[in-house]
Amino acid sequence: MLVYAVFGDPVEHSLSPAMQNAAFSAMGLSARYLAFRVRRERLRDAILGAEAMGFGGLNLTIPLKEEALKVADPDENAAAMGAVNTVAFGDGGRIRGYNTDGWGALRALEEAGVRVGGRRVLVVGAGGAAKAIARQLALSGAEVSIANRDPRRALDLATAIGGRGYGLGDLEKLVPQAEIVVNATSVGMRKGDPRLVDGRIFREGQTVFDIVYNRETELLRDAANSGARVLDGVMMLVWQGALSIEIWTGRKAPVDVMEQAVREELRNR
Ligand code: NAP
Repeated sequence: MLVYAVFGDPVEHSLSPAMQNAAFSAMGLSARYLAFRVRRERLRDAILGAEAMGFGGLNLTIPLKEEALKVADPDENAAAMGAVNTVAFGDGGRIRGYNTDGWGALRALEEAGVRVGGRRVLVVGAGGAAKAIARQLALSGAEVSIANRDPRRALDLATAIGGRGYGLGDLEKLVPQAEIVVNATSVGMRKGDPRLVDGRIFREGQTVFDIVYNRETELLRDAANSGARVLDGVMMLVWQGALSIEIWTGRKAPVDVMEQAVREELRNR
């Protein structure tokens, strides 16, 4: 039996074990996916230990994605993002780092029939997830603007990907102009979080993608009420996990089974 794991701190609420175990079992693989709480200063020990024990591969979540660059040899994409969310072990102790978050977001949009090439996209947020998404969408030909609470971070990210950066005070002007709006902040994860924008600002013909996946956010409800097309964060989670499985096993992952597992887990919480 091959062991896979997600490392994070905290990690007990991770949906990845339910999702990835469902995938492995549907694929007929003799594998088990576990969650381990790993402190940042012990990440090197944990990754080297997993490699030594013959683990099949790892996912990394908050706050370990950046630290992992000191241990894993990143591919071009992970190096450009400065963050690793997938670790694969190769021959001779080789430890490779990948980042599947941006690709997961792109696939979630594409599979929902949303074309990004040539479209005006507003990414709200400039943290880890926003960086991955903004970079991937820019690479896919979207015209990307970034708005963030700390406008300096938005400007830095915009400079890195060839887009424009703003503060949240500009959202009232930016949202109506965008064809696709992505919430890549953590706002909406908790009931009672303040709204980022007035709920009546959205419109028909717009796609609003909120990468928060643990609950239906006010943002998505507002957008749907205004006639916009809405996507929650579950399919991004599923696609980024599916790409991790492809990297580890060379096989396509069963995304429908994974989505069902995630939605069931969320219902039971
Ligand atoms: P992060 O690196 O900590 O970034 C957090 C972002 O949220 C920053 O842009 C931060 O702005 C902004 N923010 C936080 N509190 C805010 C507030 N009260 N008002 C306005 N902006 C605020 O976190 P992350 O890893 O990017 O994750 C962000 C969210 O994406 C989380 O909800 C996470 O669960 C979700 N996520 C989903 C997936 C998926 O597969 N669906 C994958 C990864 C992450 P400042 O820069 O100004 O602090």
